[in-house]
Amino acid sequence: MSRKINIAIDGFSSCGKSTVAKAISMKYKMRYIDTGAMYRAITLYCIQNNIIVNGVVNIDMLESNLSNINVEFVYDLKEEMSHTILNQINVEDEIRGIEVSENVSIIAKIQMVREKLVFLQQKIGEQKNVVMDGRDIGTKVFPDAEVKFFITADAEVRAGRRLRELKLKNEEVSFTQVLDNIEMRDSNDTSRKINPLKMAEGAILIDNSQISLEEQNILIFSQIDKILKK
Ligand code: C5P
Repeated sequence: MSRKINIAIDGFSSCGKSTVAKAISMKYKMRYIDTGAMYRAITLYCIQNNIIVNGVVNIDMLESNLSNINVEFVYDLKEEMSHTILNQINVEDEIRGIEVSENVSIIAKIQMVREKLVFLQQKIGEQKNVVMDGRDIGTKVFPDAEVKFFITADAEVRAGRRLRELKLKNEEVSFTQVLDNIEMRDSNDTSRKINPLKMAEGAILIDNSQISLEEQNILIFSQIDKILKK
C-alpha cells in the first residue's frame, strides 16, 4: 500500500467490527487496534482490585490506580492475532468473559478512563497505517481518518453470533443473558455523555444482518480501494 491512511470502524457490540478490522489488517498490511480490548482490560483490573463492586465504581480508588494500569498489545505470529497485555500479563481470554462484558460499559463512561485511552489511541495512530475499531474512533479518536465505517446488525443476530463464540469457550450463558447484555451495552454506549456511539460524519454504513462475511468484505475492500486510488 503506497498511501498511508487510518481506517476507523465503529458500531454496536458484537456486530463483527473486529472481524472486519482483522480482514482489513491482513489485506492491506495495516496495524489492527481493538480499542474495546483496552476498555475491557481496565475493567478487568477494576474487578480484580475491587474498584468496581456490584456495578458501583470507587472513583477515588480508580483515580489513584489509573496511572498504574498499563495496557499493551503483542502480536502472536503463530496464531496470527494480537493479545492484550495488562501490566505484563496476557489477559486476552479473561477480558472476553461475561463478568467483564457486564461491567465494561460502566467503566467506559468515566471521563478519566476515556481520556487516558483516547490519548494512547491517538498516539498509536500518529504514524498512520492503523485500522482501529471501537465506538468513538471516527468521531473522537480519528475524526480525520481517511476511511470510516459504521457497522451494525439486528440485536438478535448479534446475540446469536456472540453466544456461539462464548459456547466455543465453554462459557455457561443463555441466549437471553447475551441479548440482555448486548442491549444494555447498546443503550449505555449510545446514551453516555462523553463520546457516545454515533455514526461519524462521512462514515459508510454497513448492516451485516443479512449478508455473508464474503459479501461484507467485498463491500468494505471496494470502498478502501476507492480511497487508495484517489
Ligand atoms: O468492542 P467491545 O464490545 O469489546 O467493547 C467493549 C465495551 O467497551 C463497549 O461496550 C463499550 O462500552 C466500550 N468501548 C468504548 N469505546 C471504544 C471501544 C469500546 O466505550 N472505543
